[in-house]
Amino acid sequence: MLKLNFKKPKFIRSLKVRIFLIIFIIGLIPCIVMRYAILQNYEERAVSLRTSDVQTQLKILANHLITYRYLQDTSSEVIDAELNQLSNLYDGRVLIINSNLSVVKDTYGISEGKTIISEEVIRCMKGENTSKYDPNNGYIEMTIPIMETLEIQENDKHPSKSDIVSGVMLTSVSTDNIAVTLEILSRKALVVEIMVILVVFIVSVLASFALVKPFEKITDALSEVKEGYTNDPISVPDCLETEHIGEAFNKVLSRMKVLDDSRQEFVSNVSHELKTPITSIKVLADSLRVQEDVPLELYREFMEDITEEIDREDKIINDLLALVKMDRTAADLNISQVDINLLVEMTMKRLKPIAVKRDIELVYESIRPVTAAVDEVKMTLVISNLVENAIKYNKEHGWVKVTLDADHQFFTIEVADSGIGIPEDDLERVYERFYRVDKSHSREIGGTGLGLAITRSAILMHRGSIKAVSTEGEGTIFTVKIPLTYIAVS
Ligand code: ADP
Repeated sequence: MLKLNFKKPKFIRSLKVRIFLIIFIIGLIPCIVMRYAILQNYEERAVSLRTSDVQTQLKILANHLITYRYLQDTSSEVIDAELNQLSNLYDGRVLIINSNLSVVKDTYGISEGKTIISEEVIRCMKGENTSKYDPNNGYIEMTIPIMETLEIQENDKHPSKSDIVSGVMLTSVSTDNIAVTLEILSRKALVVEIMVILVVFIVSVLASFALVKPFEKITDALSEVKEGYTNDPISVPDCLETEHIGEAFNKVLSRMKVLDDSRQEFVSNVSHELKTPITSIKVLADSLRVQEDVPLELYREFMEDITEEIDREDKIINDLLALVKMDRTAADLNISQVDINLLVEMTMKRLKPIAVKRDIELVYESIRPVTAAVDEVKMTLVISNLVENAIKYNKEHGWVKVTLDADHQFFTIEVADSGIGIPEDDLERVYERFYRVDKSHSREIGGTGLGLAITRSAILMHRGSIKAVSTEGEGTIFTVKIPLTYIAVS
């Protein structure tokens, strides 16, 4: 199908132009309609007044015609005078037609003796008044019947009276003076209309500028932030809408600031963490270099320390790489159906030697067999980080209990330990990168502060959740909840 790629012209897309057009058109339409309606109304009223005026005069005249029996004899000067007066008064022409449709009198003196058969005359002969306005030629044509009252004597009864139409007066009167008044009125209305249009135009321009002004202010404020002149929150309280835009922008700005701060903090943390082992290595190597005749024992001891620091550096780099990988999109997940029971068992088996070293009992309880759609590598990382922490931050001869359960939607892995616990205030922060409750203790036992950050990222990628409850000195329980089926977001 042909798709028309029609883009509105730029000026129509401008809010200012749209507001101007709306106000201008809304102001203009009533003005034009009113002018038209007033003129139309005046014309109708003037014509109907003129018609009823003339009709009244004609009715009086019709009575005189009967009295003077003018239809039979047109020699009455009184009637002629009345007829002339009437036609002069209304600048019109009067025709008197008898019952044979023959013209007995024409004030213009041209149609006398002629027969007139028109619809109006015939209707009038039946007793009906007619009137017709012809605006193009500027006259009103009307007919009124000439009524005569006859006395009818039937047999011996009393005589009865009856009105019969014995003729018609056909009159046309000029409406030129109505047209002249209309013309004058129309000219005056046009002047008023032009003035109103001017006022509406000015009001529309002012209103469109005034209404758009707050938006221009907000654009200026945004530009200032964009160009870096200021970092202050923007505020345009001129109207509710701009206030909302300002509030929304300030929220975005503060979120960006938080992100920027956390990025800076992360970079400085990374540099610091990577530098610490290198500084130690340098100190150890320098002290060996400056000493002469270093005993072999001391060499060996220092070399072991250096190897330990290199291992640490290696671990930090590996953890950082794992974290960076997690930060990528969920599209990198390699989802397959995994036997979670087996996964937990294998991971615990792998960690058993560290637990045995500290005489910590590892217990695994599986409530039911669970198979779920997960990324096996990332899920192994989750379980191993949690169980490793539970061992690392435990007491000698303590215990770690892992419980696996599921409902129809989620599976849960609970890792409980009898360790040192996490203070209430730190519970939410342990997932932050490089966050450690006790820095020196964590370093001592080889922690990087990245384990739980990696764990949480992996869980969130699976659309799961992690929470911890802890009592200082008694132990910690981490609970992970993951959907059994993976739902990819398109
Ligand atoms: P680390 O490499 O230091 O262990 P993590 O991100 O895994 O880093 O953990 C962050 C901090 O949370 C640890 O330094 C530790 O203080 C605390 N923590 C984690 N797990 C436990 C636990 N099971 N018991 C007590 N403290 C814990």
